[in-house]
Amino acid sequence: MKKSIALLSACVLFSSLVGCSAGTVTRAEQQDSSQISVVCTLFPEYDWTREILGDQVENVKLTYLLDNGLDLHNYQPSAKDMITISDCDLFIYIGGESESWVDDALKEVTNPNMKVIRLMDVLSDSVKEEEIKEGMQIEEEDEEEEEEPEYDEHVWLSVRNAETLCDAICDTLCEIQPDQADAYQENLNHYLEKLSAMDASFSEMTEQFSIKTVIFGDRFPFRYLVDDYGIDYYAAFAGCSAETEASFETIAFLSQKLDELQIDTVFTIENADESIAKAIISSTEKKNQKIVSLNSMQSITKQQIAEGANYLTIMQNNFDVLRENLQ
Ligand SMILES: [Zn+2]
Repeated sequence: MKKSIALLSACVLFSSLVGCSAGTVTRAEQQDSSQISVVCTLFPEYDWTREILGDQVENVKLTYLLDNGLDLHNYQPSAKDMITISDCDLFIYIGGESESWVDDALKEVTNPNMKVIRLMDVLSDSVKEEEIKEGMQIEEEDEEEEEEPEYDEHVWLSVRNAETLCDAICDTLCEIQPDQADAYQENLNHYLEKLSAMDASFSEMTEQFSIKTVIFGDRFPFRYLVDDYGIDYYAAFAGCSAETEASFETIAFLSQKLDELQIDTVFTIENADESIAKAIISSTEKKNQKIVSLNSMQSITKQQIAEGANYLTIMQNNFDVLRENLQ
């Protein structure tokens, strides 16, 4: 009796081991062959994808190409980046002038099922032409090539655009992994609630101010943000112009605007050297304006991500800076 029980247990044990190990191998194989690869050029695309994937992010190879701190306008893919792009399942990019390298990269694609999201296509008519405002330093090139409109590629800086773009990313992820669609949709809905709450706080906050004008002693990638909330702006350069030197006329125009509107703050973008902002301030009557910066997320590093950077916290920080400095 004892013997047969022992034998039976051994059998059960043996079959459960075999069953279990066979099951593990199958699951591992399935996971490996079904593991998808998603490649994003800019930080917000990466962060939104991460939010939509939720727990599944561990089973997805998610690549953010600009993680070494190069900014959007200076990045060119390395040979290794080209290989990562060529066989990914989903490639997400902005699609502006700074990413003209993408056309060539997509000619090298080896995965016939690759899906591509160009954010500027998703937004279609909401994409704005780059605006030249009074006082701006104009690139010589711009003056010559007036026929072809340049589009402002900094579309991610509108929280409202972010909602549309997250929707599109979620739809495509669900097409690629239909068995995860319910979970992705749920993560998306949760994230959209946060974006929508942030949009509402921006509207409410900006309504309290009367001058509602920002003066940038720098490039100006924030047009999508300020337009959403009726904030006016003046800046040394349009978009992310390659110009670095501001003329006497530009400096003088911006300092006169500070005097005329009695504005106490000059804005820059992240990592700015502040020299233009300082020159503007030194030409004003008061000469005591402060310099603050907004983060346009064009060069978020691996380290910042490790320290917890995400789209919502960075936009919240931009919100706080605006709340403190709008008048
Ligand atoms: Zn830019």
